[in-house]
Amino acid sequence: MAYIEGHTRDQMLLIPASVEDYVAADNPVRFIEAFVDGLDLAAAGFTRSRPKATGRPGYAPGDLLKLYLYGYLNRIRSSRRLSTEAGRNLEVMWLLRGLQPNFRTIADFRGDNKDAFKPVFRGFVKLCRRLDLFGRELLAVDGTRLKAVNSRRRNFTRQKLADWIKLADERIEEYLAHLDRADQSEAQADGAATRAATLKAKIARTRKRRETHATMLADLVASGESQVSLTDPDARGMATHPKVGVGYNAQVAVDAKHKLIVEQHVTNAGSDLGLLAQTAGAARELLGIEQIDAVADKGYYKGEDIAACEEVGVIPYVARPQRGAAVAAGRFAKDEFAYEAAGDFYRCPAGHRLDPVQRLEKDGRGSIFYSNRPACRGCPLKPQCTDGSARRIERWKGEAVLDRMAQRLAARPDILATRRETVEHPFGSIKQWMNQGAFLMKGLPKVRGEFSLTAFAYNLRRAITIVGVPAMIKAV
Ligand code: SF4
Repeated sequence: MAYIEGHTRDQMLLIPASVEDYVAADNPVRFIEAFVDGLDLAAAGFTRSRPKATGRPGYAPGDLLKLYLYGYLNRIRSSRRLSTEAGRNLEVMWLLRGLQPNFRTIADFRGDNKDAFKPVFRGFVKLCRRLDLFGRELLAVDGTRLKAVNSRRRNFTRQKLADWIKLADERIEEYLAHLDRADQSEAQADGAATRAATLKAKIARTRKRRETHATMLADLVASGESQVSLTDPDARGMATHPKVGVGYNAQVAVDAKHKLIVEQHVTNAGSDLGLLAQTAGAARELLGIEQIDAVADKGYYKGEDIAACEEVGVIPYVARPQRGAAVAAGRFAKDEFAYEAAGDFYRCPAGHRLDPVQRLEKDGRGSIFYSNRPACRGCPLKPQCTDGSARRIERWKGEAVLDRMAQRLAARPDILATRRETVEHPFGSIKQWMNQGAFLMKGLPKVRGEFSLTAFAYNLRRAITIVGVPAMIKAV
């Protein structure tokens, strides 16, 4: 049995007469062309949106933007690879009409227009709205950590620097002791002189490193920062995500209907605390509705942020995390104390009433403490409740907002499972496309531009799957 054979290379073939014939009507490049041609690039902030009157003509920003959108859609993010594709890939040849910018031009375009990619992402969100791809009822907000162009070795916290300095001091002491012994040694053989020279070189190297670390530590203290990254100064150590090491925190608000990203932004904050209202609020605005539900995991549980959500038309659903010393020691959690608003007291697990005993204003945050010392004194549940003389429950003065949220969550327990399945899809896809979730660019503004392109590509792929290219071109 023979194999299927290709044609001989010198055979004359009847191939399609134009590049146009190679690009089918439902090829995504046709949508990219129509979408970019419909954008107001000057309003989005692209540089050189109008051609120069004199001098050598440059590439039109629309052409370079098309190249990047195509690249991110097809997991080609490097400027060198994009330049190569422009010379050998028929889809790119069609899209750029045979233009072949060099890699430097392509790379500079991404860096120079870092802030303009977000308006492009938002332009596509508006298009998805016209296509009715958003349910506009529920958003799932979550963050993922993505690696920066900065190794762990080139990231220093104050503690790490202090440890290095201490270690250097110990090493120098050790080398000096060895040197003394070598100096006092009777043996003036060749070997002793060489050892002494080696030790002196080691001491000099260690002193130099110590000096560098001491300067870095002094700079950190002066700036008030807690850490410094040497390759990408904006990147931060993600302590709770050891696999990422040093990176960024990408936040997304995903609409539950088709798992499309409505809003995204990147920060270098290590935690998600305080990021819910700004992410979900911006998404609500883009969706053009008065109010929307938003669900997030326990990492977003912060009273002030939950209260801010209500102010920006977002109804939050965030489960209360079990934090605090009592929980860590295996004692009753705060959830087990029921607050009775009418009488302003807590009912404890033993059925006693805990009344306000102290008010505290600290760091602009007012709290009230509730307790019942006489009841605790003879309580049989005390070992499960407190190791002090009486249990105290702290209530933030705005905590009514958290109580309302707890009631909403109790009425919709399934919403937490919806959250998980809604955000897992974009994060799973994005990390796979981004080479396990690693940025190529350095610096927060450029990383933000890069993530806008990535989120755009994710949305575009989803929308193509749902409605197809021809319908999308019609909606432009
Ligand atoms: S120790 Fe005090 S607060 Fe705790 S269950 Fe007993 S009476 Fe209630």
